[in-house]
Amino acid sequence: MEYHDSEKAQEVAGRVEAFMDEVVLPLEREMLATGDTISNDELAELWEMAKERDLFAPQMPEEYGGQGLDFADMLPSFEQVGRSLIGAHSIRANAPQEGNMHTLEMVGTEEQKEEYLRPLVQGEMTSGFSMTEPMQGGGSDPKMLQTTAIKDGDEWVVNGHKWWTSDGWDADFFLVMARTDLDEHPYAGTSIILVPRETEGVELVRNVGHLGAPELLEASGGHAEIKYNDVRVPVENTVGEEGKGFQIAQMRLGGGRLTHCMRYSGMAERALEISKAYLSEREGFGSDLAEKQTLRQRIADAETKLHMARCGVRHAARELDRSEARIEVAMSKVYTANVCNEIMDLAVQCLGANGVANDLPVAAFYGDVRAFRLFDGPDEVHRRTIARHAFEDVATEEIEHALRFDEDRIVDELKREAPADD
Ligand SMILES: Cc1cc2nc3c(=O)[nH]c(=O)nc-3n(C[C@H](O)[C@H](O)[C@H](O)COP(=O)(O)OP(=O)(O)OC[C@H]3O[C@@H](n4cnc5c(N)ncnc54)[C@H](O)[C@@H]3O)c2cc1C
Repeated sequence: MEYHDSEKAQEVAGRVEAFMDEVVLPLEREMLATGDTISNDELAELWEMAKERDLFAPQMPEEYGGQGLDFADMLPSFEQVGRSLIGAHSIRANAPQEGNMHTLEMVGTEEQKEEYLRPLVQGEMTSGFSMTEPMQGGGSDPKMLQTTAIKDGDEWVVNGHKWWTSDGWDADFFLVMARTDLDEHPYAGTSIILVPRETEGVELVRNVGHLGAPELLEASGGHAEIKYNDVRVPVENTVGEEGKGFQIAQMRLGGGRLTHCMRYSGMAERALEISKAYLSEREGFGSDLAEKQTLRQRIADAETKLHMARCGVRHAARELDRSEARIEVAMSKVYTANVCNEIMDLAVQCLGANGVANDLPVAAFYGDVRAFRLFDGPDEVHRRTIARHAFEDVATEEIEHALRFDEDRIVDELKREAPADD
């Protein structure tokens, strides 16, 4: 499908596609065949190759070693790396690292950029974004945040209990969402505090086991449950303006949601490619399975929806380069997540038992994609945002005329029907 992305976007994506076809997909096939994981050393080799090909960290400015692409231009490259579970990692464009880089680049101080952002981009450091908490803390409703950071002299004292901090087990530092002014509404009194992992009081409790969890990468840092017990860091570790944590998180998540859409749409495309190849080769009931109309209809619907999702993401990315694009991003997130889930289910069905075998990547995709409807805001929360917008400025004149007309007519009829002395 031709999307008329900018020349620059197409040029970089073409090189990313070649890198995926020549290096990443063969490596992934080898891993699936042997059941091995990629070691940190192998990942570092992939990074070197990506750097040699000028593909590394497309989302970051060139001064930090990235490609300096905006959202609209990085989009086709992210779709390409999404075709493999190790694709985004191989060019350092994986969540949550990419979102955390984006946050530090947007609002970090020069010192934070030198000490944390530069090594983060280069893969010398890794990071976690610590927002979600166990019951009854912040989750779908982030206003329920319980973690606090209270000033004591020139230090923050952080206390709280988080979980699902992606890559948390291996992280060198965390961006912790904490309430810093308890008298304010959470939206006005929450800040992001950078906490180095080695700080006293940081307690890594466990990695949360979950559906899918393909252990293709040794370097994948799991989803950590973490306690912050009287953790002291300097007030200079505030990331962005104090009290603006939610606004900054929103900027981070807006971009993060779109990059997830881009990567997962690449994954759905590959699952469809594999399914179509299988259906074209496999015979049953007197013909290729690809000739069965029930399957063809479903593949046609899947192709259509994937195309619609990609168009929507492209529109949202262009808007996000100009503004907050909250509604466009919410629509893209919920639509793409559902389309990718539908497609992965269809792919498993088309492949028969091969759909759930580890010989192909589709089983791992299937396990991985379900969480996309939950993280970075579950479906219902995005629909809530979209509905709130939809009910703003409702044009009541659309019904006023009809209802007044009815009302007048009914009153007239009642008057006519009523006995004179009633
Ligand atoms: C793979 C994965 C990676 C993650 N990575 C991170 C990370 O790096 N950092 C981090 O901080 N968090 C992370 N999370 C956590 C994730 O962001 C939260 O799980 C998500 O915000 C939902 O919060 P919750 O699990 O507490 O669900 P709850 O808030 O308990 O909600 C449960 C369900 O209720 C429904 N619901 C909620 N609100 C409404 C409503 N208003 N109307 C109707 N229905 C509603 C939804 O279906 C929702 O799924 C990750 C989660 C997963 C699965």
